[in-house]
Amino acid sequence: MANENTLQAIIAHAKEYGFVFPSSEIYDGMGAVYDYGQWGVELKRNVREYWWKWMTQMNEQNIVGIDAAIFMHPTVWKASGHVDNFSDPMIDNKDSKKRYRVDHLIEGYAETLSKEDGEALIAAMEKHIAADDFVGLKTLIETNKIACPISKTVNWTDVRQFNLMFSTEVGSVADEASKIYLRPETAQGIFVNFLNVQKTGRMKIPFGIAQVGKAFRNEIVARGFIFRMREFEQMEMQFFVRPGSQKEWYEYWKTERMKWHSTLGIDPAKYRFHDHIKLAHYADAACDIEYEYPMGFKELEGIHSRTDFDLKNHQELSKKKLQYFDADIDPETGKAYGNYIPYVVETSIGLDRTVLMLMSEAYTEEDLSTEEKQDSRVVLKFIPKLAPVKLAILPLMKKDGLPEVAKALLDECRPHFKCFYEEKDAIGKRYRRMDAIGTPFCVTIDHQTKEDQTVTIRYRDTMVQERIHISAVKDLVLKSL
Ligand code: ATP
Repeated sequence: MANENTLQAIIAHAKEYGFVFPSSEIYDGMGAVYDYGQWGVELKRNVREYWWKWMTQMNEQNIVGIDAAIFMHPTVWKASGHVDNFSDPMIDNKDSKKRYRVDHLIEGYAETLSKEDGEALIAAMEKHIAADDFVGLKTLIETNKIACPISKTVNWTDVRQFNLMFSTEVGSVADEASKIYLRPETAQGIFVNFLNVQKTGRMKIPFGIAQVGKAFRNEIVARGFIFRMREFEQMEMQFFVRPGSQKEWYEYWKTERMKWHSTLGIDPAKYRFHDHIKLAHYADAACDIEYEYPMGFKELEGIHSRTDFDLKNHQELSKKKLQYFDADIDPETGKAYGNYIPYVVETSIGLDRTVLMLMSEAYTEEDLSTEEKQDSRVVLKFIPKLAPVKLAILPLMKKDGLPEVAKALLDECRPHFKCFYEEKDAIGKRYRRMDAIGTPFCVTIDHQTKEDQTVTIRYRDTMVQERIHISAVKDLVLKSL
């Protein structure tokens, strides 16, 4: 169920413990723009690397990566349809002067209704959106008396389309010819390099090209912390297939992506598929993988069967052939498949939305009170392979040679995984700080260590402590990864 308090607690925790800060905070921040702090950046990097490895190294399909520039020739966005179509229906409140995405406004109101009424309203909205019926959308808002959250009035403009791309100028003369866009998706960098990669990599269809990078959208409503940002990171993979086989590959990638998700330590009941009713201008089938965030089920990843839309349009506008010669024999005709523009199945997941999912899932408040005293802790229960820090090495005291023993262990472990070393404060306090950033293992070096080379290892989730030989620490952590 939607729980705004949990989201607020996660936002506060993320800031207090160095995961995510509001951008330019000393100037009061910027709407829907965030900076990752020292632990957030590690978490994000672990997710990015895990996705990359899964796609380009562990996958049984032939997938390679690229890193295309953010700036692209402006015609790219004409060919892709973004100049004409990348817009959302918007409505302005005449009193507050605030602009809203119509679907967000109606969805927000639906959440305040009973389950049945809310679903009926969403269904009516989706019908109007599918039919591009802007008058119907406005009527829906008016008949339900959906008010502006700020002015509390229902004094609305007509519904209009609003383009989400950021533009800027390249070079010294600012005119229409020098106008370029910040990419709103990474996919186009893959399409325009399709033949470069296919030829130089001697890739045979079916094959994939993966990319991770920044994308920019002028989102009107800043909502949901790092769920909806103006600058965010996408992890996308375009899979090039023979025309006619796209439905099969679409199903394949739905299953395959869920396999990846099932390794992240997330409760499977918190995932669901949502089929698109209104298909994007490029798709012949599309669905979202949704996760149940604290604010309810929301899109985390899109799987889209993009047909040959992008390559065909790039071929037309660039006047360069973007075709593949398929020498395999078509069993129906007995001849080679020959030249064609491949079809594409895309998987596109937001890195920041994945981080928010992991934080939402990991965030746990525990009451540890006993009869003698009140106690509690906040712990982030990340699976070890994604945790920002894997091992904390904590000498019990700053003297008697304990730091020297601890530093020797640090030197042994840090080439293999991220460690954290700390000498200050009571050990209980140090444990709690490691719980708060999700460190799965803490090792304490005490006087007994010097006698028998054993250390206390403390497990984050159970808080169980046991003594093990110091030489076993590195392998114990490595095994968990
Ligand atoms: P939404 O309907 O939530 O605006 P979308 O359908 O426009 O998302 P896509 O164009 O399919 O999103 O982009 C692919 C993925 O990129 C999304 O599933 C999401 O994880 C991520 N993404 C899109 N927009 C944003 C954003 N503004 N902030 C963070 N991540 C985003």
